[in-house]
Amino acid sequence: MDVKQNGFMTKVLHAGHHPDQETGSRAVPIYQTTSYMFRDSNHAADLFALKEPGYIYTRIMNPTTEVLEKRLAALHNGCGSLAVASGMAAIFYAVTNIAGVGQNIVSGSNLYGGTHTLFSHTLKRFGIEVRFVDSSDPGNFARSTDQNTRLLFTESVGNPRCNIDDLEAMARVAHDHGLPLVVDNTSTPPPLFNPFDWGADILVYSLTKMVGGHGTCIGGAIVEKGGFPWESHGRYPEMTGPDSSYHDLNMWEAMGCDKKGKQECPIFTLKARTGLLRDTGAALSPMNSFLILQGLETLPLRAAVHAENALKVAEHLEKHPLVSWVNYAGLPSHPDHERARRMFPRGCGAVFGFRIKGGLEAARKFVESVRLCSHLANILDARTLVIHPAGTTHQQLSPEEQAAAGVSQDMIRISVGLEDIEDILADLDQALEKTQ
Ligand SMILES: *Cc1c(COP(=O)(O)O)cnc(C)c1O
Repeated sequence: MDVKQNGFMTKVLHAGHHPDQETGSRAVPIYQTTSYMFRDSNHAADLFALKEPGYIYTRIMNPTTEVLEKRLAALHNGCGSLAVASGMAAIFYAVTNIAGVGQNIVSGSNLYGGTHTLFSHTLKRFGIEVRFVDSSDPGNFARSTDQNTRLLFTESVGNPRCNIDDLEAMARVAHDHGLPLVVDNTSTPPPLFNPFDWGADILVYSLTKMVGGHGTCIGGAIVEKGGFPWESHGRYPEMTGPDSSYHDLNMWEAMGCDKKGKQECPIFTLKARTGLLRDTGAALSPMNSFLILQGLETLPLRAAVHAENALKVAEHLEKHPLVSWVNYAGLPSHPDHERARRMFPRGCGAVFGFRIKGGLEAARKFVESVRLCSHLANILDARTLVIHPAGTTHQQLSPEEQAAAGVSQDMIRISVGLEDIEDILADLDQALEKTQ
């Protein structure tokens, strides 16, 4: 069966897995093992030299995790994927796979709080400069790019500003400069949105959120489109040159990526696996891969309800007398609404901000007053979640950085879940009453 021909729902249930000959297990088995028997000494040596594909040690590869990786690649029509222990690990690996001391990346400034901290503090200690730009104008990326720039970075839908930028124009800027565009697509996984269709080259995910979908485990992934011209201008020797940590093996040539017409060459994820993951070890546990696969099986069904409920909640809040402002791109009042309609016909996710009349005190009172909604730091669990970003997720940012991220003292971020819409609305209403 070639899943490439199948529809999306079939792919989430089948891609990347065939029942094994020995047991016929229909569900993906949890291979809760650290290591794998070698057939003989030659087999062992060949695996270590990457002359033969196969499992050695679960830090680098595991059969359960591999199904998840293949399924993620198939769902995006990508050529490869690497699953790791968290979304943050995926972002760190995606950047450091091609950026190092003395080099820089250009990123939109409106980022998930953890990514912002990684970019503005931790990457600095590794000698990587991050140039933050206002992503609403793709020209800003071009103006901040120089010969030491390695990649452009942005998020599909900003959280909590819910901004939707012109990804196509951003990809053009990246490609004009010979750079890959890396997109964090955590809040809008397919079938809501596939950034590869809009020019992105590499995706990063927190699988913790809508993909896993049930708030049970932390995980992350890199997904690779394939076909990026890493070889042009000899600009990315870490992709196309000899690898000193493998006796100068040239993986680009060994995989035949240098052959004319070869498009599907998962060199980026292979390098991240055999380099960064091998050496720094943020491996996803097989149990978590299994749980995330369980979530993935119903992703299309859940994504549709998340988006449908989110629009209803946004419309309700916009009409509410105690709410001063709602920032959901699915509403005509949002500045990016037209782009949202064009790029996100199935809905632009389920995370957005709104402001309560009464300022900081009202916002604090609101999160303490919800009963059905959960006051916690996560998004895109099956349950509805609320948080006060200025006091929590964006606390480490300066007031200017908070403003750039669209966070104000009176703002609540909501992640709309799958409960009955009447129950969600009733809970929001009673909590809003209590703020006054
Ligand atoms: C949660 C999140 C991350 C980080 O993922 P973890 O799995 O928590 O490490 C990165 N980007 C976005 C957009 C997120 O929402």
